[in-house]
Amino acid sequence: MKAEIISIGTEILLGHILNTNASYLSQKLAELGIDVYFQSTVGDNPKRLSFLLRQALKRAEIIITTGGLGPTIDDITLETITQTFHCRLILRKKILSQIENHFKKRGLKMPSINKRQAYLPENAYVLENKIGTAPGFILRKDKKLLIVLPGPPSELIPMFEEKVIPFLKEKLKITEIIFTRTLKISGLCESEIAEKIKDLLKLKPPLTVGIYAHPQEIELKITAKAKNKEIALRGISQIESVIRKRFGEYIFGKDEETLEEVVGRVLTKKRKTLAVAESCSGGLIAHRLTNVPGSSHYFISGIVAYSQKEKVRLLKVPVEVIKKYGAVSKEVAEIMAKNVRKMAKADIGIGVTGIAGPKGGSSDKPVGLVYIGISTENKTEVKEYRFSGERFVIKLKASQEALDIVRKKLLR
Ligand code: ATP
Repeated sequence: MKAEIISIGTEILLGHILNTNASYLSQKLAELGIDVYFQSTVGDNPKRLSFLLRQALKRAEIIITTGGLGPTIDDITLETITQTFHCRLILRKKILSQIENHFKKRGLKMPSINKRQAYLPENAYVLENKIGTAPGFILRKDKKLLIVLPGPPSELIPMFEEKVIPFLKEKLKITEIIFTRTLKISGLCESEIAEKIKDLLKLKPPLTVGIYAHPQEIELKITAKAKNKEIALRGISQIESVIRKRFGEYIFGKDEETLEEVVGRVLTKKRKTLAVAESCSGGLIAHRLTNVPGSSHYFISGIVAYSQKEKVRLLKVPVEVIKKYGAVSKEVAEIMAKNVRKMAKADIGIGVTGIAGPKGGSSDKPVGLVYIGISTENKTEVKEYRFSGERFVIKLKASQEALDIVRKKLLR
């Protein structure tokens, strides 16, 4: 079964918005075992959209469009579909009253242009929109399906999950599903990982392993195609345990989990608290930690002491230490970690100092040099890193390592 996605909107073509709908839909279709061979994007232009629709119908069984269902003049999807496929539009009274209610609930009267959204092709299966005003719909055309969805992801995602997936499962008698487990690794590079799982990377469907690199972490995706979730999970867990044996504590989490969530969970479990003193990471560690709801239970404070003066004033790093070793040094990271822990009365203190670049490096202290200190009551240790990449990537990698050091410390 082949599907094709057509994203409609001039903002996507201009690069003003990222086409997250296409990526979301492709992932979901893959999970359903439906192949996507083409994705295209077209502006708000009826002629070009009509051309794409006719072309897509020749090469796929399912065509999904997103966007352009709004009430304004540049929303051309419905009109173009109507003209291309000679549909007759009829007023859907239920949809009209839902749109009127949408405005009423906000104390507003429905603008007359919104009435247009309640006219849908005669034979269409209507997909109600619980969030916005634009209904979606499914049309059958020569035994093929045209699925028309609104553009805003907050409207498209619930519509797809609640209406389209059950519809497709039933109509297409989908008997196979695709299930993926992601294992996340920090602290090893892509080639080291690839080397260790050479054999697994060669696996062929129904069970495969893929490697996906991000600047700060690597994902291993184990994908299984099976008749149901139970069988898929059985295959996945066999491969998962092989991978876990090979990488041990380098694997910090799975699926949607982030490192900051994992760190938060371990801190909570061990009833420990954390404070951070940041220089080159500019508050990114504190930002990531506080992205996790409930972080106030274990994260006490974060100090961004960027200038040398503030390292002295806020973190009590002695001037002589900075003068002797430099602000980017093992000694300064150590004092930052120790002092922030003591000041915040936390169990663990982290200190990060480094050179994020692109300027400011020298031959003995190059861009990417970062010292990360971790301090507990018993011990303060510092590790030196040489990160590569542009400024933000270096900050990101520094924040990742700092969080991972905390995680690894707590595992022992
Ligand atoms: P509305 O009912 O809000 O007018 P619509 O179906 O007409 O929705 P568009 O006007 O095409 O949708 O897009 C509305 C907004 O939805 C865009 O400004 C953008 O924020 C988001 N959007 C549209 N298409 C995409 C896409 N492919 N990926 C991510 N976001 C998108």
